[in-house]
Parts: sequence; C-alpha cells; structure tokens
Amino acid sequence: MSKKRVVVIGAGPGGLTAAMILAHRGYQVDVYEKRDEVGGRNGALVLDGGFTFDIGPTFLMMLWILEEAFEKTGRKVSDYVDIRQVDPLYRLIYGDGKEFLPTHDEAAMKAQMDELFPGEWEGYQRFLAYEKTKLERMVPCLQVPYGSIFDYARWRLFKALPYLDAHKDLYSHLGSYFGSDPLKLAFTFQAKYLGMSPWDCPATFSMISYIEHAGGIHHPIGGLNRVCHAMAKVVEEEGGTIHLGKAVEEIVVEQGRARGVRVDGQVERADHVLCNADFGYAMNELVAPEHLRAWGPAKLDKAGLSCSIYMLYLGVGKVYDIPHHNIFFAQDYQANVHDIAHGLKLSDDFSFYVQNACKTDPTLAPEGKSTLYILVPVPNNRSGIDWAEQGPALRDRVVDALVQRAGLSDLREHIEIEAATTPGDWEQDRNVYQGAVFNLAHTIDQMLWMRPHNAFEGLPGTYLAGGGTHPGSGLPTIYQSGMISAELIIKADA
Ligand SMILES: Cc1cc2nc3c(=O)[nH]c(=O)nc-3n(C[C@H](O)[C@H](O)[C@H](O)COP(=O)(O)OP(=O)(O)OC[C@H]3O[C@@H](n4cnc5c(N)ncnc54)[C@H](O)[C@@H]3O)c2cc1C
Repeated sequence: MSKKRVVVIGAGPGGLTAAMILAHRGYQVDVYEKRDEVGGRNGALVLDGGFTFDIGPTFLMMLWILEEAFEKTGRKVSDYVDIRQVDPLYRLIYGDGKEFLPTHDEAAMKAQMDELFPGEWEGYQRFLAYEKTKLERMVPCLQVPYGSIFDYARWRLFKALPYLDAHKDLYSHLGSYFGSDPLKLAFTFQAKYLGMSPWDCPATFSMISYIEHAGGIHHPIGGLNRVCHAMAKVVEEEGGTIHLGKAVEEIVVEQGRARGVRVDGQVERADHVLCNADFGYAMNELVAPEHLRAWGPAKLDKAGLSCSIYMLYLGVGKVYDIPHHNIFFAQDYQANVHDIAHGLKLSDDFSFYVQNACKTDPTLAPEGKSTLYILVPVPNNRSGIDWAEQGPALRDRVVDALVQRAGLSDLREHIEIEAATTPGDWEQDRNVYQGAVFNLAHTIDQMLWMRPHNAFEGLPGTYLAGGGTHPGSGLPTIYQSGMISAELIIKADA
C-alpha cells in the first residue's frame, strides 16, 4: 500500500514537531518552508563576523514536553542537543534600580527575599504549593484536543476547574500571595510571554512563573534554534523532505476539503494539509474566504491579538559581566503595558529584556566577543505606527537605555555589527499577521475549544500546529500542538 502523504506548510517548531512524528509513523511528509532556513521565529540569525543569535525564543521551559515529542519518534532529544539549565533564572531590574535574582538555590532565594521583600517568604511557599497542584490539574487539559464542546465534559477538566482562576486577572491573583508590588511583578511579568498585560491575562497563567521556579529555564548550546535543526534532521532521517525557499501560495480546496497546496504554481496533492504558518496570515492569504467555514477575515479583524516586539541584535567586541537573562522594568510598568496593549503607542519609559547568552554559551561568538539580544515589547500593527520612521529612533533609545540603565557604558564603541526587526518586518518578511508575534491573545474566549481547533473546523482536511491553535503560543504548547495534530491525523487514518 502506498504511503499517505502529508504536506506541512512551514518549518517552525510546530510544523517540525508534527512532521517528525508523522514521518516516523510511516507518512510521506513534505515540509514547504518559504525561507531558506528552518526554525521560523525560532530560527537562527547569523551576522558577519561569527555572531549567532536566536531570532525569537530564548527561554526553554517544560523540557519534558520536548523530550516526549522526540520519544514519539523513538529518539532522545539529548542525543541531538546539549541542553543546560540557567541559574539564577534571570536578573530583574526595577525602575528604582533594585535587583532581584530568583534562583533554585533555596537559601540564596530566602536570603534575597528576606532582604528585599521582608515577610513575603511564607507567601512564596503558598505560591509553590497551590501552583503545583494547578499545573498538575491543568497539564492533562492541555495535552488533548478540543474539537467539540463535549470535550469540556471530561473528568480531567472538571478536576482542573477550581484551579482555572480564569475569572480574575493574573496580577490580582498574585495579590493572594504577596503584598509587595515589585514582588507581584516578579511573578506576573511572564504574561508578556503570551504578549499580554498581567492586568488582562487570566490568572490561569500563574502556572508560567511556577514552571520557571519549579522546573527551571533551559538554554540549548548553540541557541534554541538548535532544537528546530534537530527536528529537521529527524524528519530527514525518517525519509521526509524539507523544501526550503518554497512558499506555499494557497491551500488547494476541492469539494469543501483541503486536497493539497500550490507551490511554484504546481499543485502538490496530499491526504492531509498541516498548516504551521502563522494562523492569521494563513487564513487571510492561503485560503479563499468562500472556503472558510470559520475564522474568516471578519472574525480575525475582531480577534484579540498579542503585542509585537521590536528586536535589536548586537554583535559586540567584548563580553559583559551580566547574567544570561536580564529584564528591565519601566518605572511605571503598568502604564507601559497599558500603552502597548490598549493605547497602541510607544512608551517614553519602556521595559526591555537583554540576553547575554555568551555568558553561558561561548559558541555563539568568536572568543572575547559576544552577542547581545535586546527585546522590547511594543504594540502590534493595529497601532498604525510607521516603523520605517520609528524603528531607527527606537534603536537609538534602546542603545541609550543599555548604556544608562544596564550600565554598559562603553557599548557604543564595541558594537561591531547589528540588525533589527520591527513589527513591520515580522509582518512583511515573516508572514506574521499584524506583527502579533505571540499570535491570538490568550483570553478565556480564545482558549481551549474557543481557539482554532487542531483539526481545523474552518477547512476540513487541514490541521493546525503552532501558536495560533490549542494549547497556545509558547514553545512547550507549540510542541504539544504538533503532537496533538500528528495524533489526530494518525487517528483519522486508523
Ligand atoms: C522575539 C520572540 C521571542 C520569543 N521568546 C519565546 C521564549 O523565550 N520562549 C517561548 O516558549 N516562546 C517564545 N516566543 C514565542 C514562540 O515560541 C515562537 O514565536 C515560535 O517560533 C512560534 O512557532 P510557530 O511554530 O507557531 O511558528 P513560526 O516559528 O513562525 O513558524 C512558521 C513557519 O512558517 C513559515 N511560513 C509562513 N508562511 C509560509 C508560506 N506561505 N509557505 C511556506 N512557509 C511559510 C515561516 O517562514 C515559518 O518558518 C517568542 C517569539 C518571538 C517572536
């Protein structure tokens, strides 16, 4: 019997997870990737002079999910990628200059908290205990598809319901543990990983800071992009093909069902289409509206979206003695996130993140040199900001902030090469709808059954993997989406 064929649109982490599992399970898998390298937003950026950056993700969490994805192909991820834990987790720098370095070293953590936030240790213990149970109840709900309203009537969701905390926002939820506002910030800024404000984000996501504190943050040597390269290798080892520099022009629909894709004007027929391209982009650009049963342009227009990111990548002729992950909060963090999410404008007083990866991983730059990755959350493209004009101005403000707030006083004379990515670039060069890099917002009306389904209800024969489908945007959930969709395809053919 001839093999069933799956075409995968996009070689991002979601598409590659599904592709390697399906190839292992005997499918003929063809991955079409519009760019010349794999990884998507999780790819590598290599600048002249030997500087390698991760384009996007730098925090790897819930390692067991990635391990499970590789196990589904009969392999161990540790045979492909050297993954290390980063401790302290990160350095948090508040607007008043105070610093907090959360760590897995319990004695050091307690000593810091007693000094910076006296009397709050007991709240931290309560946080760890409650959030552990929440995570244990929630994870099983995130590992299964929600293709029908009846999927809500499952015992695992009933068990999780008391811990969903979806009726309150993340910041007020943290108030049940801590009195100090800066401490609440240390456990809620993670809403930004979903592109949201802690004052809008459902308290369900307090799990994220728990995951960091209990399970740790990891860095693969060579960067997080190495995981995508490893997945691509597995796809090829299993007989699949990755076609680079091949943009899919449309999903081919016949009699109301996806039957393949059009590439270079040719139809590539398939039994199933798995779409990993950004969800909003794909719905607008790859499927004619008359074929869509759900999630057409009108619905997308009204959908809640994540924020965007301005990125600056600096190849530097020295190594700075600062931790691997550094998060600088605006003086008025709440006003800053409000500007991003609701005001749709750039803040004068902005927050930013600096990754000094060479501290842990010298492979990323020549000896004695380093890479600095700077991420600034900014509004998505619904703002109408003219990035051709604002990009260069923001670049200068970011370098000023690195000199003044981060204390890298001689930085300007050591920058050897640089690159930037604006929200406009995410949309134009990387097909990210509205530049909303963390995809559809994770509000309660866009989660679980309300998020576009893995077996996509809008177009039969199409499956989704990536940040725009269930369980959500963020690498562990993206790997999970690839696993769920691969299993759905296998089940459909059983
Ligand atoms: C700056 C930044 C920082 C982030 N940091 C973290 C982090 O620290 N930790 C974390 O867990 N998550 C993080 N994320 C979020 C998320 O994990 C990544 O964005 C992730 O790469 C998204 O994966 P994906 O599979 O959904 O899509 P993508 O990575 O975007 O992959 C989609 C692929 O589809 C391709 N494509 C698009 N259109 C077509 C077409 N027509 N034909 C063929 N191919 C096409 C694209 O080129 C791309 O390769 C970050 C994101 C960004 C942008």
